[in-house]
Amino acid sequence: MSEKENKTSGNFIKAIIDEDLKSGKFDRVHTRFPPEPNGYLHIGHAKSICLNFGLAEEYNGKCNLRFDDTNPLKEAQEYIDAIIEDVRWLGFDWEDRLFFASDYFEKMYEYAVRLIKTGKAYVDDLSAEQIKEYRGTLTKPGTESPFRNRSVEENLDLFERMRKGEFADGEKVLRAKIDMKSGNLNMRDPVMYRIIHASHPRTGDKWCIYPMYDWAHGLEDSIEGITHSICTLEFEDHRPLYDWFLDQLGIFHPRQIEFARLNLNYTVLSKRKLLKLVEEGHVSGWDDPRMPTIAGLRRRGYTPEAIRDFSDRIGVAKSNSVVDIALLDHCLREDLNKRALRRMVVLRPLKVVIENYPEDREEELEAENNPEDPSMGSRKLPFSKVIYVERDDFREEAPRKWFRLAPGKEVRLKHAYYITCREAVKNEQGEIVELRCTYDPASKGGWTKDGRKVKGTLHWVSAAHAVPVEVRLYDHLFLKENPEEVEEGQDFTANINPDSLIVLNNALAEPDLKNAKPGDRFQFLRQGYFCADLKDHSSEHPVFNRTVTLRDSWAKIEKKLQS
Ligand code: ATP
Ligand code: MG
Repeated sequence: MSEKENKTSGNFIKAIIDEDLKSGKFDRVHTRFPPEPNGYLHIGHAKSICLNFGLAEEYNGKCNLRFDDTNPLKEAQEYIDAIIEDVRWLGFDWEDRLFFASDYFEKMYEYAVRLIKTGKAYVDDLSAEQIKEYRGTLTKPGTESPFRNRSVEENLDLFERMRKGEFADGEKVLRAKIDMKSGNLNMRDPVMYRIIHASHPRTGDKWCIYPMYDWAHGLEDSIEGITHSICTLEFEDHRPLYDWFLDQLGIFHPRQIEFARLNLNYTVLSKRKLLKLVEEGHVSGWDDPRMPTIAGLRRRGYTPEAIRDFSDRIGVAKSNSVVDIALLDHCLREDLNKRALRRMVVLRPLKVVIENYPEDREEELEAENNPEDPSMGSRKLPFSKVIYVERDDFREEAPRKWFRLAPGKEVRLKHAYYITCREAVKNEQGEIVELRCTYDPASKGGWTKDGRKVKGTLHWVSAAHAVPVEVRLYDHLFLKENPEEVEEGQDFTANINPDSLIVLNNALAEPDLKNAKPGDRFQFLRQGYFCADLKDHSSEHPVFNRTVTLRDSWAKIEKKLQS
């Protein structure tokens, strides 16, 4: 059995759906992805998107995109637009099923009136702090509000006046009348509506009472006829409340299934914390390539295919765990290896003069675009007397097993010739400014006639033809695997990696990279996978982001696991 089949059969969500279809509880599968537009989506949301849209696809069902836009204080059109773009970019289609919780505000209001009429909801005058105090704790039962036994008529009147705007924020709330002594704190008369005099991105000033998440969410699913409402584990304890609301109202009742949220090491996945990173300027924005947001990952050069593959491989679980970010990078390398054009870029250039190469000569060498895929063709590489190599590829004193350049050492230039280093030229400060080398004219294409081998193969660019480019090297945004591990009085921002972004302004690229368009992806030989920045790249000022290095730590982990 392949790894994938194994995952599928072990997917407990599918087992529940199969059972529901078999028993006749449902005769169709309808899921939804319900983001609150209070921030950008992150890789954790991607898991939920892949899961919900993936299940709908597999069962020939439907999946809605629904905005849970119930809190105007935190939500914005910018977030709505970004979320739509991200879900589409991941490759999913909600057809004509783009919905907004705010479209159901009238319906929800009617439902609330119904609960008031049956004595199941009441208007409370306690303040937020008092409500918290009266609520009790896990070990202490709650206390009933003195306003709990208002008459139906009074409640109906007050609730209507709440809607009309007769009261200030916080002056009154509508609460469900359930059980202040319940062992489940969610059942202790939860708040259903609060007063917020704020303009909503979609309903404007039409409303000044807004439904709480716990009241609204189950109704949204019910109204849309969602069969399987999939959410993260922290909502398990809220399920009895959702059941209670739906049963009191006697309306369509979806099945809720909880799964473990995605956690990644070296990463924070909470919109609140990501917002803090943006607002405090630790990153350049929600789409900073170091952010775990979909927009950040896209700008960094991640592919939707790699993210979907990652999502598949981690599967779904019933208990929380932390996934190694190396697995995400592994999926990415597998994908990019197949599709990325190979190019040569020298990040920190060191000049090389090839003494025995004719001054006025220029050649065009043939170089394949991707050794993994001959159909991707080849390009022409100019070669001339003066070239640049990577500064790190030269050592004046070669350590043992140094297979790159050093005085007297021979190396192969990729797609070109064998060269031997004769001398390192220094400036007055004693810094090496140039290497003097000779080449073997018989080694064209990078192969020798006599069969002699060298171990080192270097990338290079021709000085006369090179294109100056800016290269941005990224590393984990956090130094610690668990960014929350801090000293007292600190928060997770104390663990930000000061070297998470290194900008190289003097890199030199082979001429073909002049043609790169924003978003184009490449493998820079020996350096990693890069993509032309979606925002800052132009042909006048090329900017490349390092998506991921070539070294695959996950492959190593896997090998170890197998041996
Ligand atoms: P955050 O905790 O990052 O603020 P959230 O849960 O408040 O996220 P929502 O917009 O409410 O954000 O989430 C939309 C959907 O995405 C929900 O169904 C939620 O369960 C799911 N989701 C959020 N974070 C994760 C995660 N880390 N792993 C899997 N699913 C997630
Ligand atoms: Mg949420």
